[in-house]
Amino acid sequence: MDVVLIEDDDAIASSLVTGLATAGMVVRRYASGTVALQHPIPDLYLVDVGLPDIDGFEVCRRIRVSSTVPIIMLTARSEEIDRVFGLEIGADDYVTKPFGLRELIARIRAVSRRVSAATEESDVLTVGPLTIDHARHTVRVNGDLIDVTAKEFDLLAYLAAQPGIVHRRNDIMESVWDANWYGPTKTLDAHVAALRKKLGNPSWIEAVRGVGFRLEIPS
Ligand code: CA
Repeated sequence: MDVVLIEDDDAIASSLVTGLATAGMVVRRYASGTVALQHPIPDLYLVDVGLPDIDGFEVCRRIRVSSTVPIIMLTARSEEIDRVFGLEIGADDYVTKPFGLRELIARIRAVSRRVSAATEESDVLTVGPLTIDHARHTVRVNGDLIDVTAKEFDLLAYLAAQPGIVHRRNDIMESVWDANWYGPTKTLDAHVAALRKKLGNPSWIEAVRGVGFRLEIPS
């Protein structure tokens, strides 16, 4: 399980990273919300409320714009108002500091079970070894999580919706970038190049000269 921990306190963060690793979780830790949000969406977020730039509630709100990924808030405050506010803006659970590692692990497992039971199968698209999870905004190849940006995800999801079909460059630009796209399509080539590299199989995204691109994955 891939967990992102957003916590500015180094001591708390390092003990959590170590502790959760013993439970088989891979933890990426960021000390600020804005930095964390520039990285791929994990299986679950642990978000401290008191953060230096944007606070944990704002982080939660921004994650919820594009994803239903599980979020557990961590806070030093115990007021009921915070708890209610956190849940209202889309957090799945709330843990008040100080908390025990075992309690946190139990909460993580409970929330993950709840969310995966609720995730509809139609949110997940599988093409051969490639899995695209729309709800979590994640891409996996043979089960391994691939680090993609939001635009790379959109582009791949667009092509994967119709494998084998050639999409015109301008159609891709209009669907993935801007509905009224008019102009050069160089950014498309850059994103294709990045995706090919990240997928590890450059031939999956095939360029059709003078037309556009198609996703062609051998089954
Ligand atoms: Ca803090």
